Amino acid sequence: MVNFGSSNALICLTLHVTNVATNFGRQRIPCSTPQARRLQQKKDKEALRQQHRLVVARLKEILSSLKETKPRYKPAFDTDASFPLQERHQVQPPPVPGPPTTQIGPLCLSPVEAASMRVVQDTHVDNSTPRVLYSDGSLLNSGTLEVSQAFGVVDLTQDNPLTVQGRTDGHASSAKAELMGLLAAVLSAPPEQDIVVKLDNQSVVDQYSRLVKNRRDTLPRKRFRSTYAGIWAVLWQAVESRPGRVEVVWIKGHSNIHGNELADQAAKVAAQSGSVPWMVDLTQQTDITTFAHCYGGIVEIDLRQLLKQQSTIRHHQAWTSQRRVKRAIPDIDDVEWNSTLAYVHDRHAVFTFYSNSKDSHQRTHHIKKLHGMLPTLNSMQARKPNLYPTCVCRRCELEKEDNDHVWKCPSAAETTTEIWKEAMGKINEWGVQATNSYNAARKREYKRAVDRGRQVPRPVPIHWWPPSDADHVRGFSSIGGARAVHSGSPAPDRDEKPMWNVSDLLRGITPLSMLTEWSAVFRTPMSIAKTVLHKFVGYLEAQASELIWKPRCSATIAWEQSQGISAKDKTSKYTGPRGDWSQGYGYITHDGFCPCGASLATHDEGRCPGATKDPRAADERLLESLLGRRRLSMMERMGRIPFIRI
Ligand SMILES: [Zn+2]
Ligand SMILES: [Zn+2]
Ligand SMILES: [Zn+2]
Repeated sequence: MVNFGSSNALICLTLHVTNVATNFGRQRIPCSTPQARRLQQKKDKEALRQQHRLVVARLKEILSSLKETKPRYKPAFDTDASFPLQERHQVQPPPVPGPPTTQIGPLCLSPVEAASMRVVQDTHVDNSTPRVLYSDGSLLNSGTLEVSQAFGVVDLTQDNPLTVQGRTDGHASSAKAELMGLLAAVLSAPPEQDIVVKLDNQSVVDQYSRLVKNRRDTLPRKRFRSTYAGIWAVLWQAVESRPGRVEVVWIKGHSNIHGNELADQAAKVAAQSGSVPWMVDLTQQTDITTFAHCYGGIVEIDLRQLLKQQSTIRHHQAWTSQRRVKRAIPDIDDVEWNSTLAYVHDRHAVFTFYSNSKDSHQRTHHIKKLHGMLPTLNSMQARKPNLYPTCVCRRCELEKEDNDHVWKCPSAAETTTEIWKEAMGKINEWGVQATNSYNAARKREYKRAVDRGRQVPRPVPIHWWPPSDADHVRGFSSIGGARAVHSGSPAPDRDEKPMWNVSDLLRGITPLSMLTEWSAVFRTPMSIAKTVLHKFVGYLEAQASELIWKPRCSATIAWEQSQGISAKDKTSKYTGPRGDWSQGYGYITHDGFCPCGASLATHDEGRCPGATKDPRAADERLLESLLGRRRLSMMERMGRIPFIRI
């Protein structure tokens, strides 16, 4: 927007307009005699003067109209101006009939707990020193259906310690429990009493100073979009309206502060009780007038964050329902994604801006490999049947080549065994490395604790005990074909129908079940065993790319050249009939099977078993996780991905 506010701007603008007009005039005039020229100039000047007067008049008009409509300062806290639509769009949650409750201020709670609150409220007011209240919150069974959040408030200033305790529900976190404890403490104390609330959650104390104490200086973005913004607004209203002062102080938890211990106990007892959760009446504050509801429940986190999480989880759910994903990754829940994604991203963190063309090519290759979408001859033939009359593997020249055959080709068997043996030979080296860094980390931890003046036992260094060959065989037996690859000769699998095969390891998938089973044979802490096995699978994957996939590409290109298929032919546009795409992308589907990899006998009315695309089911999982009843997998959250160091 142009600023018409200052008179300087006005002058600049008029000058500019005049100059432009002059230039225009000069270009158009043909000059004949001196008299005629002088006359013309005079006319021009007059015309310009008139133009100038017009521009100035118009600008003055604009300026005066701006002054009328635009107020100089935006009023703070004018909710009528911020939410002109509030009345029409405010949605009240449906009333739920339940056990009898009592209303105390903005709180709605069971009569018994209300009575304990009244006892504290009726105590004698003494403002010679502010009264100290301890509050604490507790979150039990998070991630299960039995999730319970509760809080306790303790007043030690009376003859007997007075406690108030209760449960809460909705979005679950320990911060919510602590916040409810703080609210209960403020509302329990007699209104005229100055109080100091001591609690052990640093972030709640910080939020208090931002969202209650200095609320008038806090930007609307913070006030409206913080987690539990409604409860904070109610707390602010409660603190503002009481005559006594409120201070909130952080204390260290679990360090034998009597009041804190009592509050903690009260919170734990309440969490295990089946009492009615306290409700906070969010209409009893004037700052925030509109709250979002989602599937009948109030949204207590930032709405934009919720929408982001929703699209993430919906995308993930749609991805798991794809046939090619079902085929390429037989059991999505049995994959150690930390390690698998670390291979995909070539051990770089996802959210760094690190990138170059080599890294980008490598990532493409990894993702195609993971999804079974490498351009093998079967898909080349489907794309351009005119160039590829056959899709027989160019290495063994026996079988048709698809994403499965690449890794299982008989001509690659020897290489696979070699890579496997090399990786096995490196396990001790990796083990010693991992053990050393484990010991060093323990030592650092110990030093830090001693520097802080804590009494901790000195860590005993751990030694690396190499597992025997028989141990290893026991460890990896769940993997199909692993025994044969290990011994270099045909050997039966332990399981009749193994879920994972050696080819899956070569594609860079780390199965969780293998990790658990194999880690057990190591006589070291689990984390060391896991690091070693991540390195093992990473080595197999990297070497298989170099020694199996790349030679395969060279062999195929040599064959293409012998057939007269040029690079230009491969990139030229093809308009003829295409191959059979219904048979899946990277895999050849055998008779009696579906492209999803399952046999057709398991398909009811042609529907693939397992996940189907269902945004509602995805939303439900997200809501359950927000309510603390379920933990989402890393792929469903896909926020900051913590890689295991490899
Ligand atoms: Zn606490
Ligand atoms: Zn082959
Ligand atoms: Zn299917």
